Amino acid sequence: MAGGPSPEEIARTQANQLARAVEWLNKHWKGERECPICHSTEWSVGTFIHLTDAPFLTFGLVSTYRVFCPVTCTTCFYTWQFDAGAAGLTAEPDKASGASEDEQPAAGETG
Ligand SMILES: [Zn+2]
Repeated sequence: MAGGPSPEEIARTQANQLARAVEWLNKHWKGERECPICHSTEWSVGTFIHLTDAPFLTFGLVSTYRVFCPVTCTTCFYTWQFDAGAAGLTAEPDKASGASEDEQPAAGETG
């Protein structure tokens, strides 16, 4: 099998991240959870957004990218985001980050 996470693995990681993001929000989001635009209180949490070219000084170390978690109003789609990296939600409990950008040659044939 070639390297790289499988779609199942990616889905599991995203589900895990979402669960941790919701847990983090429930812990830190105090007061009214009201949308400033439409006053709805229904929100959805999206998958993490990885921003490259956004160096971030944290605890004396410079990360090469930042990770944000979008929170979207389900009524008017107003979206705000929090720094999931700084919140500690991006650290994999069982695996160190071994991010590498391998370019895989696309072997698509069109008939
Ligand atoms: Zn709204």
